[in-house]
Amino acid sequence: MHELSIAESILDAVRAELLRYPGAKPLRVGLRIGVLAAVDIDSLSFCFESVVRGTDWDSLTLDAKSCPPTRRCLACLGDFESVEYNTLCPRCGDGNTISTGGDELDFDYLEVETDGASSTQVQSTE
Ligand SMILES: [Zn+2]
Repeated sequence: MHELSIAESILDAVRAELLRYPGAKPLRVGLRIGVLAAVDIDSLSFCFESVVRGTDWDSLTLDAKSCPPTRRCLACLGDFESVEYNTLCPRCGDGNTISTGGDELDFDYLEVETDGASSTQVQSTE
């Protein structure tokens, strides 16, 4: 199942990130998912919960954000978010635009708890 393998790769990313914070407990992981990536966020959340349940990380929650497709206008070089698959540039009205995003699946941030008290939000370093 597609979403299950994504859930497992999120855990791999969390594991890698935690190497920088020995002893920290992961609380929440943020993910950016382009709407064109064809990922069902509900289904992904469900898979994620089922893979962390019963592990040391069962308090870890997933914060998946859906991102709209982005495009760049070749006439004015403006970047814009494509609303309802509209490909016209909102700035100059030109139709000569290319897709620049919307199918991404990016690790966004990881929130960890250190010393059992303070929590820190760390951004992805990629
Ligand atoms: Zn334009």
